[in-house]
Amino acid sequence: MNIFNDTAALRKELSNKQTIAFVPTMGNLHDGHIALIEHAKQQADYVVVSIFVNRLQFLPNEDFAQYPRTLDNDCKLLSMVGVDTIFAPNEKTLYPEQQDFLLTLPAVADTLEGKFRPGFFCGVATVVLKLFNIVQPQLALFGKKDYQQLHIIRTMVRQLNLPIKIDACKVIRASDGFALSSRNAYLTQTQRTEAGKLYHILQQTKKEINSGCKNFESLQKKAIDYLTQRGWEVDYFTIQNSKTLLPAKTDDESLIALTAAWLGKTRLIDNIEI
Ligand code: AMP
Repeated sequence: MNIFNDTAALRKELSNKQTIAFVPTMGNLHDGHIALIEHAKQQADYVVVSIFVNRLQFLPNEDFAQYPRTLDNDCKLLSMVGVDTIFAPNEKTLYPEQQDFLLTLPAVADTLEGKFRPGFFCGVATVVLKLFNIVQPQLALFGKKDYQQLHIIRTMVRQLNLPIKIDACKVIRASDGFALSSRNAYLTQTQRTEAGKLYHILQQTKKEINSGCKNFESLQKKAIDYLTQRGWEVDYFTIQNSKTLLPAKTDDESLIALTAAWLGKTRLIDNIEI
């Protein structure tokens, strides 16, 4: 397995590869990332994983400094899984000068996550486009855990004519349903036990919609009340059209419930397709 920090050496290694599948990550890898990599291995002869904590997608008051960086462990894990190449650039490699050339994103990027984390998707899309240009994969894998991010990346690829297929993998969960996340490292044991309730209320909401409830407002309120009473601080809990990510209408065919909520100082996101 190769580990490159440098763009030129990486490009040289990749120059004669036929089909490259690419999995961008911020590291501190868990089974959610591994599922993407396993999918990549099935689809392509050559798999590249990037590990880069992207400052551009963090607000000044967010957890950029604390974000868990576990490169040695990640490399060991990726070597066991059978990845061909890791790209782990430092900040100067990816941002050798001030990145003032930024993408303008569609309005959906200002909703949901974008409403609470202004500029977040601009940072994500900009780094993903840079990484796509460096790696030039035929296929790239993203998790449905970050459903809005997946939606925005797909829109970017379509509207900017990038010759890259985007595949999505389902949310990988712990046995209590809790969506695996690198930020789980921040949770105390008590919080980790409580964290499973986020998926519980998503499932409950799905069940009610599937049994005919179309009063989305009241379902949203019920979920927010449930979480708030248990000590969560909810940024949003909302039912949207899963294709457009616009607020759900009663005649929409495919829906998704999405939520972001704080447990103490940790912000968790999750969703469930309906
Ligand atoms: P991150 O390292 O958090 O930036 O995530 C890198 C990729 O892994 C993104 O495409 C995420 O959506 C995906 N991912 C993270 N957690 C999970 C999970 N629990 N299940 C599926 N995909 C995930």
